[in-house]
Amino acid sequence: MYQDAAGRRWWKGNLHTHTTRSDGVKTPEEAAALYRAHGYDFLALTDHWKYAPGGMADGMLLLAGCEYDAGADGLAENGIYHIVSVGAEREPALQKLPGLTARQILDAIHAAEGFAILAHPAWSLNRPDEIIKLRGIDASEIYNTMSGTPWNGRRADSGVVLDTVAANGLLLPLVAADDAHSYTGEDCRSFIYVQAEELSRDAILSALRAGRFYASQGPRMEVSFDGKCLRVSCTPAEMVVFYSNRVWSSERVVRGENLTFAEYRLLPGENFVRAEVIDAQGRIAWSQPFAAGER
Ligand SMILES: [Zn+2]
Ligand SMILES: [Zn+2]
Repeated sequence: MYQDAAGRRWWKGNLHTHTTRSDGVKTPEEAAALYRAHGYDFLALTDHWKYAPGGMADGMLLLAGCEYDAGADGLAENGIYHIVSVGAEREPALQKLPGLTARQILDAIHAAEGFAILAHPAWSLNRPDEIIKLRGIDASEIYNTMSGTPWNGRRADSGVVLDTVAANGLLLPLVAADDAHSYTGEDCRSFIYVQAEELSRDAILSALRAGRFYASQGPRMEVSFDGKCLRVSCTPAEMVVFYSNRVWSSERVVRGENLTFAEYRLLPGENFVRAEVIDAQGRIAWSQPFAAGER
């Protein structure tokens, strides 16, 4: 947890983790102890089709978690959806049966009062037009550590998929997560900071639902948007990059040594904007996307 200049508290957590209850190599206790030792305030254990209830683990908040999937044969053309449930009040009523759809998974998570996150859309080769049709996704991973090398191909970053979704009118809140399985360097890398008064399931869930969070691998940021201009204050960075539906913009990249501020004024026709802060170690922080004209 850190406090910003205004005294608000930001809690650090990872919402996507596997253990020996599915295909991870650490036990739930070992995984929780590892994240706690790395300064995490909350964690969701999200084993495939193995619901883990919430609770506390030596002062670290455990959010209830599970990862569900739909789509046949692992083939992109069949529409593969991995959806992570966090913070559900009870186990979502789901069974892994042929023909299960992403829509049914989202509905069951919501019926159990959980928060539904689309996992690694780039890894799954999810089509932007199909994501847009799927009403009820609460957030999407823009970065999934495990979906990158050396554990997978280079599909950790879902920015292109989600910017295409945003350009077509659906702004999904963005999270980063480890999806830790092997614990060989993908653990304790990508996380979110959530702004909440206290560390509790209800406080974190309402902050998630209100969009009071951002994704990071280390850099910290504060953003403000007045409908036309996105302003970013951050810990010392090498680059701040602004993304939108415009394919070319001369103002997209702000570079500098120990950069702590950058801003971007929307150009005619731009309908959304978001920012990435990149520090000297190449670690990234991702703002939420903002719709043009909306505060
Ligand atoms: Zn997955
Ligand atoms: Zn996973």
